[in-house]
Amino acid sequence: MCGIVGYIGHRDAYPVILKGLQRLEYRGYDSAGIALYDGLEIKLSKTKGKVADLELKFSQQIEPKGSLGIGHTRWATHGIPNDTNSHPHFSNSGDLVIIHNGIIENYEALKQELIKRGYHFSSDTDTEVLINLIEDIQKNNGLKLGKAVQVALNQVIGAYAIAVFDIKKPNEIVAARLGSPLAIGVGEGEFFIASDASPFLEYTNNAVYLEDEEMAIISLHNPLNIRKIKDDRLVSPYVQELKINLEQIEKGGYDHFMLKEIFEQPHAIKDTYRGRLLTDEGIIKMAGIEDHMAKFLNANRIIIVACGTSWHAGLVAEYIIEELVRVPVEVEYASEFRYRNPVIDNSDVVIAISQSGETADTLAAIKLAKEKGAFVFGVCNVVGSSISRETDAGAYTHAGPEIGVASTKAFTTQITVLTLIALRLAKAKGTISNTDFRAHLVELEMIPKKVEEVLKSETLTKEIAAIYKDVSNFLYLGRGFNFPVALEGALKLKEISYIHAEGYPAAEMKHGPIALIDENMPIAVIATKYGHYEKVVSNIQEIKSRKGKIIAVVTKGDTQVKGIADHVIEIPETIELLSPLLTTIPLQLLSYHIAVMLDKNVDQPRNLAKSVTVE
Ligand code: GLU
Repeated sequence: MCGIVGYIGHRDAYPVILKGLQRLEYRGYDSAGIALYDGLEIKLSKTKGKVADLELKFSQQIEPKGSLGIGHTRWATHGIPNDTNSHPHFSNSGDLVIIHNGIIENYEALKQELIKRGYHFSSDTDTEVLINLIEDIQKNNGLKLGKAVQVALNQVIGAYAIAVFDIKKPNEIVAARLGSPLAIGVGEGEFFIASDASPFLEYTNNAVYLEDEEMAIISLHNPLNIRKIKDDRLVSPYVQELKINLEQIEKGGYDHFMLKEIFEQPHAIKDTYRGRLLTDEGIIKMAGIEDHMAKFLNANRIIIVACGTSWHAGLVAEYIIEELVRVPVEVEYASEFRYRNPVIDNSDVVIAISQSGETADTLAAIKLAKEKGAFVFGVCNVVGSSISRETDAGAYTHAGPEIGVASTKAFTTQITVLTLIALRLAKAKGTISNTDFRAHLVELEMIPKKVEEVLKSETLTKEIAAIYKDVSNFLYLGRGFNFPVALEGALKLKEISYIHAEGYPAAEMKHGPIALIDENMPIAVIATKYGHYEKVVSNIQEIKSRKGKIIAVVTKGDTQVKGIADHVIEIPETIELLSPLLTTIPLQLLSYHIAVMLDKNVDQPRNLAKSVTVE
């Protein structure tokens, strides 16, 4: 994972890189480092810890001068997070310096070769192997840096986004990518390199996104030189104008990005269906679906591949698509799917879901599905991301940048897109009546208002959080469309409060988890007034008989559950298959407030990173 930033131009590089790293910290935050070229030599400072620790260390050690530099915020894969393993890394001669996001899988074999040739290594990282490989190639063949990087990368197996510079030629940076994202900001007489565009948005809106297996030689004296790593073919840079603004990536008065993003959901859901959900005309318009309608309608199966929260959104979609479209749906963890030789062919449609559009396992699952002839449709949030480019077609979620590591608005907007797809397909297939179709459109359009209403339960969730913040275990139960919401509720709590939590289909409780219940066990139950309501009420009774504490999410006006539960949070009435968009909100708020009360780092929980670009 990790975030990388580079700068070459006329400004002081240090503040640009430092602020850039702060913005990219969501990608990894166990160590950080910056290397600056000050006109004479490279100044390096790196440390275990956060970017704030680096800032302190840097200011004590180094005068931050120079208008060329690279910086890194790490999510360790090879070697523990400590000062030595932090990036940037030098080559043995001290001439070359690198930052790297990803994994060099054949690093051990390459390292042994280099050791035989006299190289030594001070860190445990795969990255230090790569920079010495580049040096070895450069020296033995008298190559320029760009060429040496290219030759080296052709020997490497794995994934990378890198930026490298050479102190002997300190007017260029060489960048390359395979499997990890890399954007180049193009300013007036200056270039920025970063894992996403956020570090350079205040300087330029023009960006070039490198494709996989592309490298760029970035110099102030020559036009941007992009080529294919494999065959050296020149690529003409495609400069995109970015539409994101700075405000969207700042906290806007909220204490944490996560809370801001929870409260952004009404807006984000609206942005996601805007221009697609045309209630007055009684239609749903989605170009990615219309253009490939035959593929969807002739599909024998839909297979959804995703990881984490996106996998939960996929599970909700399984219930919705099967209900509306009457086509079998399977939901797979991308990491399992990619390695288990799945039975899949050109009669299958695969939907891949990922907020960042960079999730390594999901990308690999997409490639596998394509190889086997399936049509692959992507659902992601980040425009121009790898998944959006790898898939045959797709739909963006338009949630806006999600910075908090624990996903919130990405989840509800993914469900929104998947619901639109299901409704559109059902209409085309004739598996929904005109009246029902229209009713769903009207109701979906009202969801943002209803989310706003649910958000008013924040004070109540805070009170509940105060009561249960010190427990060691939590159980989440739901049925039908809301079973995946129980999984997601448990995941949110685990991620940010480090309290052990499990989600279960309510009826499964009897097959094991009920043994855990005693007077210390809080159980969040989604008990909305739909098909399984009476069954869920019985499950609640079973819990109460064992003295468990019930936090119930109920439909407004409910009296039955209110009579038994310890706490109830009401959500407005809606159509059952849309209810996950509402029931998930109080669970997000509950985990947020528990984590805040426990003084945890809500936006950057330990060991996690936002965009999982390693497998
Ligand atoms: N594999 C490299 C390391 O462990 C880079 C990891 C990252 O992407 O942060 O240092």
